[in-house]
Amino acid sequence: MPGSMAAFLVRLAVFVAVAALAACAGSPAPPAEPGGLAIVGAQLIDGTGGDPIPDSVIVIRDDRIVAAGPRETTGIPAGAEIVDAAGQTVIPGLVDMHNHYGGDADAALQMLRTQLYFGVTTARSIGTDNPEQTALMLEAHAGRPDTPRMFTAGRGFSHPGGFNAGARQPTSTDEAREMVRALAGQGVHFVKMWVNEMAEPGLKITPEMRTAIVEEAITNGLVPVAHIDEEADGRQLVEAGLSDFLHTTVRTFGPGGGTPMDDPAPSAEFIRMCLDNNVSFTPTLSIVQNNWHFAEHPELLDDSDLRAAMNPQALARWSDPEARAEVVDADDFETRKAAFRQLQDFVKTMHDAGVRVALGTDSGTANVPMGWGTHHELELYVEAGLTPMDAIVAATATSASVTPPVGEAEFGTLEAGKIADLVVLDADPLEDIRNTLAIGRVMKGGAWVEREGLLPVR
Ligand SMILES: [Zn+2]
Repeated sequence: MPGSMAAFLVRLAVFVAVAALAACAGSPAPPAEPGGLAIVGAQLIDGTGGDPIPDSVIVIRDDRIVAAGPRETTGIPAGAEIVDAAGQTVIPGLVDMHNHYGGDADAALQMLRTQLYFGVTTARSIGTDNPEQTALMLEAHAGRPDTPRMFTAGRGFSHPGGFNAGARQPTSTDEAREMVRALAGQGVHFVKMWVNEMAEPGLKITPEMRTAIVEEAITNGLVPVAHIDEEADGRQLVEAGLSDFLHTTVRTFGPGGGTPMDDPAPSAEFIRMCLDNNVSFTPTLSIVQNNWHFAEHPELLDDSDLRAAMNPQALARWSDPEARAEVVDADDFETRKAAFRQLQDFVKTMHDAGVRVALGTDSGTANVPMGWGTHHELELYVEAGLTPMDAIVAATATSASVTPPVGEAEFGTLEAGKIADLVVLDADPLEDIRNTLAIGRVMKGGAWVEREGLLPVR
């Protein structure tokens, strides 16, 4: 290249760079419509997995995000209410995809309120709702200020005599299909089935029955989802059309659960199937690990928010030094932990292979506290080897993408056009994922949540 040509190109490059800088330095044009609310100065983690934006502007009008981005390029509308969030971090509202709301409808409502207190702005009730609870979940789906945005599977399916007693237990595929249509008539969103032998061997819902349920669910616009313990069941269900499963194939429940497996890793074939069919899964590490976490860490119980969220019987148990010693001094304690490490390795392997990991907890079961448990699950993902950013994406965008209409969620990320569900944190979760519990404020659907009074008074 002639010297003069090279010099020209250098000058041109410098000119373009300077012009670009000049364009950035000027104030961005504010959005045309005045008013709304602007959260200014926070570190923004938008849930997409993109780089955090250190000094951001998030503009909200009504229930939607109008704009979200760096301060230099995101205009603030004239007359907008300014919320100074310098030094804070904003993340999308958390989405917990595996919950059970026990007791009566009042108890279920209290659990929903507790979740919202902790910044869980969307949740899925997964298979144990009676008609009264289903009605509450549908009300919470339509929009109530004091609950997360709910999705429900109503009452789920299992094998006659199998797990669990409250489930629908059809004896023929025709009956199963009829039950799925009845669920659709109730207006639920998911169809849950327990594909396991928790009760006793031989009582697992049959492949024929599973296929009928999956097909009928899809035909009726519902999303089928299954509890699995074994890879062979996972493969059969994916072949039948299922694209979202619960737990992992590391045996946690039922016969052989809680002891390390010889070969716990997902097969290359299963991983391939999951990738080819855009399958997601919700590991629920908490339901296993919380069986001893509070025995090992009783200091956590000093937190009054955790105490309020915890099941009262569990709180009594973990407050008792003898009960805690029984767990941590047991002969099989290290074995249980080794089995749990296999669960975490499964999650890491699937995640690294590109399989979509959502987030769920089994909150509402005895040892998993509502709301608090969702944050702890994030910590368990990071312990498994995911980055804090990966864990946040799982708990927001990925989990949201599993809700119907699948792949079209209007929440779960902080981008223009999305519903404004967010949590303002007083500490940086990228430095320590436990900082997601440093909650300053919660917004759901563009409205600040009145957190005071949401926790139960025990
Ligand atoms: Zn469950």
